[in-house]
Amino acid sequence: MLSLFLHEMQETSKIRIKYFIALKTLILTAKNGIPEGTRRKSYYIKILMEIKKFDVVIVGAGPAGASCAIRLGNSGLNVALLDKATFPRDKTCGDALSVDVINQLSILSKKLAEDFKSLENKIPSYGVKIFSPGNECIDIPFIYKNAKSCGFISPRLSFDNFLFQHVKEYPNIHIFENCAVEKITQEESNNVLLTNIGTFECDLVIGADGAHSVISRNIGDIKVDKKHHSAGLRIYYEGVTSFNDENFIELHFFKEILPGYFWIFPLPDNKANVGIGMLSSVIAKDKVDLKKVLQKLITTHPNLKERFKNARPLETPKGYGLPLGSKKRNISGERFLLTGDAAALIDPFSGEGIANAIRSGRVAAEHAIKCFEQKNFSAAFNKGYNKEIYRRMWKEFKISRTLQTIITYPWAFNFVVKKAKQSKYLQQFLIEALANVEKKKKLLTKPAFYYRMLFK
Ligand SMILES: Cc1cc2nc3c(=O)[nH]c(=O)nc-3n(C[C@H](O)[C@H](O)[C@H](O)COP(=O)(O)OP(=O)(O)OC[C@H]3O[C@@H](n4cnc5c(N)ncnc54)[C@H](O)[C@@H]3O)c2cc1C
Repeated sequence: MLSLFLHEMQETSKIRIKYFIALKTLILTAKNGIPEGTRRKSYYIKILMEIKKFDVVIVGAGPAGASCAIRLGNSGLNVALLDKATFPRDKTCGDALSVDVINQLSILSKKLAEDFKSLENKIPSYGVKIFSPGNECIDIPFIYKNAKSCGFISPRLSFDNFLFQHVKEYPNIHIFENCAVEKITQEESNNVLLTNIGTFECDLVIGADGAHSVISRNIGDIKVDKKHHSAGLRIYYEGVTSFNDENFIELHFFKEILPGYFWIFPLPDNKANVGIGMLSSVIAKDKVDLKKVLQKLITTHPNLKERFKNARPLETPKGYGLPLGSKKRNISGERFLLTGDAAALIDPFSGEGIANAIRSGRVAAEHAIKCFEQKNFSAAFNKGYNKEIYRRMWKEFKISRTLQTIITYPWAFNFVVKKAKQSKYLQQFLIEALANVEKKKKLLTKPAFYYRMLFK
C-alpha cells in the first residue's frame, strides 16, 4: 500500500515537472517571439507535444563541444549538439592556438588537421617574447620534436566556426543553433533540458557550455573560487607596430598585474589581439579596474605607448571569466560529464584553455561510448572520467600553479628571466617546456634542474 502511494507520488511529481517545463517553454517563446512565417497556435502545440529524445545531448558547440561531437560522429549514438549562438560567433579570447592545439586537432581527425591548413583567417607564430617586470626580455622559439615549429593566431570567430562546420560531416549529430538551455533537471532514467525551442531528453548530457555553464550550475557542484579563477579583457586593434618578424606572441608581465599579464598577439590584416588577464582574488582584494589598467598601460608605458601611437581600437573592451585548473573539482555525476571551461580546465599560468577543451571533449566522448556499451550512467562509473582527465592534466596544472605563485614575486620573476638570458641550459629548458609537456614534468620534479638553473 505504502509503496503504491510512493510510486503515485513520484509519477505525479514527474508530470508536474513536465507541465512546469512546458509552461516555462511557452513563457520563453512568448518573450522571444516565434519564428517568422509560423502560425502561433500550431507552433505552441508543436512545442507542447514535441519532446526531442537523444542518447547524448552536448550543450555548447565551442572547442570542447564540437570536439566531443566529432569524436561521437559515426559512433552509432543519436546525438544532439545545442548552442545558444548562431555560428560563426565570437568568443572573448587571446586567439592563440598553441602547438598543443594543432596536435589535438590531428588526434581528433586527420582530415580536420589537413583542412586546418587551408583555414584563411590565421597567421603562424614561431615563438613567444616574455617581458619581465624589470623590463628584461627573452625570446623563446617554438621547437617540437627538435625542429622549428609554430602555433597560430586565429580569431575565434573563424577557428570555432571551422570546428563547428566539420561537425556537419556526421549524420548522427543533430545540430540546434540559437538553442539556449535555460534549465536542466534529472529524472530517474534521463535528463530533461528546457530550452527556448522546446524540451530535450537524453540518457547522458555533456556540459560544454563554457565558463558560465548552466549544466554545472544546475546539476554539478563547481562554484567560482576566486583564488582559482581569472578575469580577462580583450580589445581588437588595428595598426599596432613593431612586431617580431616571425609573429612571436608577446607576454608582458607588469608589476601591478602579477601574477597576470598583458598580451599583444599579431593577427592577419595589420590587426592585433590586445588584452589583460588577472587573478580574480587579486582584482577583488585590490579593487582593480581592469579597463583602466589596460588603458593606462597602453597610453603611458614606455614599452607600449609608441607602438600604440597610431593604433585604432576596433571595439570596446570585452571581458570574460577563466576558470583555472589549479584545483581539482568533481567534473561528473549521475548521467552527466563536464568538459572544457565548464570543467575548469584552463592552465593557471598561461591562461590557455583551447587545447584542454578539445582534449577533454574527446575524452568525454570516449567515456560516453563506454557508458552506453556497459549501460552504466552512474556517478560512480563516471568517476572514471574524472580520473582520466586529471591523469592527463593534473601534473601540468600543479607545475603551472607553482609558476603562477613564483611570479607573484617580481624579484623571482626578474631573476628567472635574467638567468635565462645568460644560461643556455635554462633557455633550452624553456624552449622544450613550451613544446613538450612531458619534458617539463620530468625536469621540474628533479632537484638537479633547480641546481643547474641557479648555478650554471
Ligand atoms: C580573455 C581570455 C583570453 C583567452 N586567451 C586564450 C588563448 O589565447 N589561448 C587559449 O588556448 N585559451 C585562451 N582562453 C581560454 C579559452 O577561451 C577557453 O578555455 C575555451 O574557449 C574553452 O572552450 P569551451 O568549448 O570549453 O567553451 P567556450 O569556447 O566558451 O564555448 C562554450 C559554448 O557554449 C555555448 N553556451 C553557453 N551557454 C549555453 C547555454 N545555456 N545553452 C546553449 N549553449 C550555451 C556558447 O555559446 C559557446 O559557444 C582565454 C580566455 C579568456 C576569457
